[in-house]
This record gives sequence, structure tokens and C-alpha cells, in this order.
Amino acid sequence: MNEYERRATTEALFRDVNERIAESAERFDAIGTEFVCECADASCTHKVPATLAEYEEVRDDPTTFLIVPGHEQHDIERVVSDRGRFRVIEKCQEVVRRTVIRLNPRPAPSES
Ligand SMILES: [Zn+2]
Repeated sequence: MNEYERRATTEALFRDVNERIAESAERFDAIGTEFVCECADASCTHKVPATLAEYEEVRDDPTTFLIVPGHEQHDIERVVSDRGRFRVIEKCQEVVRRTVIRLNPRPAPSES
């Protein structure tokens, strides 16, 4: 596994954690909850407050992630939206993009 794949895998793991968080928030009819930061730093323990609607928007695209402002890593991703409490980043590095699409927990029918 190269450096890019390693970082992409870290982000995909945080994304999996957030999928579970979103599921339980939905079960309790919560409007919003605290997600984990989906940045490439495996030791990051920051929390990101967001609504389920905001979260769904990010999850709609397998290459976008939810992070704490400032946690973006410019060599692999770019900020597509700044919501104040959090930023939405899109993977632009090719290996990283491919890896996060492969690990997408919600694969589109055309991708599988
Ligand atoms: Zn982070």
C-alpha cells in the first residue's frame, strides 16, 4: 500500500464510522449529531457537528468528505464548500480518488 492509498484508507475508515453514527442518529430521529472528522490523519479525534441532511449531501458523492476546517491536505484534496462548522473536501489526487471510490460504503449500481 503506498502513501496515497494509506491516507485514502484512513479517510474511508472514518467515513465508515460516520455511517454508523448517522444510522443511530436516524434511529433516534435526531436532526443532527456529532460526526468524526474524516481527514487523512489517523490520530485525529476531532468531532464535526452537522445535520443528517448536510451529512447526506456529502455522502452523495463518493469523493467528498466532511472535515474540521484546516484539516484538509492540499496535495490530495481541495475544499469545495466551507460551512463554518465544517468543510467539505473533494479528493483530487488520482490514487486517492480511486481508493475512496473503491471503498465507498454506498456504491452506485454502475460502479459495482
Ligand atoms: Zn481531522
